[in-house]
Amino acid sequence: MTATSVLAAEHLDRLFQALARREYTCVGPTVRDGAIVYDRIEGAADLPRGFTDTQAPGEYRLERRDDDACFAYVVGPHSWKKYLFPPERRLWRLRRSDGSIERVDADEPPPRYAFIGVRACEIAALLIQDRVFTGGPHSDTYYGRAREDAFVVAVSCTESAPTCFCSSMGTGPAVTGDCDLALTELVGEQHVFLVEAHSPAGRELVDELDLQPAATEQEHAARAAVGAAAQQERALDPEGLPELMGKSLESPRWDEIAERCLACANCTLVCPTCFCSDVEDISDLTGEHAERWRRWDSCFNPGFSYLHGGDVRRATAAKYRQWLTHKLGTWVEQFDTSGCVGCGRCITWCPVGIDITAEVPKLAKGEAS
Ligand code: SF4
Ligand code: SF4
Repeated sequence: MTATSVLAAEHLDRLFQALARREYTCVGPTVRDGAIVYDRIEGAADLPRGFTDTQAPGEYRLERRDDDACFAYVVGPHSWKKYLFPPERRLWRLRRSDGSIERVDADEPPPRYAFIGVRACEIAALLIQDRVFTGGPHSDTYYGRAREDAFVVAVSCTESAPTCFCSSMGTGPAVTGDCDLALTELVGEQHVFLVEAHSPAGRELVDELDLQPAATEQEHAARAAVGAAAQQERALDPEGLPELMGKSLESPRWDEIAERCLACANCTLVCPTCFCSDVEDISDLTGEHAERWRRWDSCFNPGFSYLHGGDVRRATAAKYRQWLTHKLGTWVEQFDTSGCVGCGRCITWCPVGIDITAEVPKLAKGEAS
């Protein structure tokens, strides 16, 4: 059993100092542009203290709380994939010199990241992306190296949004492992973090912090707070989804969704597991310099399905069907796991509020509207 220690909120910077001594680059939640987004952070003062978020289909708003809680919000538009699988990355650069072509830079190694505030559903998403990027015969070396070097400080959710459905997907809200440290924040009479180490590196860091063991009442309070976050409005039954997707290919529901869907690609960009990318080669007019870039792509983008002189998936209905049937159906065949972790981002950040948890039951009933 993992021992639980207590870190007082006023000493949270000790954790950042210990990570800095280990030369980690800390990234975590910050407030920017009216949202919680992941960015470089130096210490506890950079965290979104006293903020929470309200979320609904197509709606997101930050609000102030009447306490100093650092992690009392749910997931925002960013996910950790932007550090492991960056939105754009130069793969190589070539230069022509004296009639020969040489590669002028090696692949830059990723920083050694410490991810601060990773939620349980996000750990599930990392495990899925591990399979996608490193589970097959052709491993993505940048992803693999960044992931291997990363120190993960996870946080169990004590709040959930109306758009969350991790409970039904079995991915949250409690952090149970697959990280280095797991924190649970308690606010009230005392503002403290209950800390559990889940790796040798995490245990070494906890030993260095010299923390006191948690009291039984504190452990009960933490379990109760996380248990409350597990009571969620939305749910998706993962049982039988691949079969349902396979049976629904000709459903009239896709056309109904397409009447609302803007094919904006927001759902794929915010999704912590979507991984499609495009590769672009560019050269200068002299022909002496060329670069290859990889950029995020989306099954909603024009040209994504361009084959042999034509786009094979031009209709929005076909694009949405591709997204959902891959995410919940053929993904399982490819990676032996669903592509959805129930984070709810695609519901919140869809500008017209299309809701995966509402669409799946309608597909199951064969409803057009
Ligand atoms: S499909 Fe939606 S709810 Fe599922 S993991 Fe992606 S963004 Fe989250
Ligand atoms: S489902 Fe929503 S977020 Fe996704 S492409 Fe359509 S309109 Fe955009």
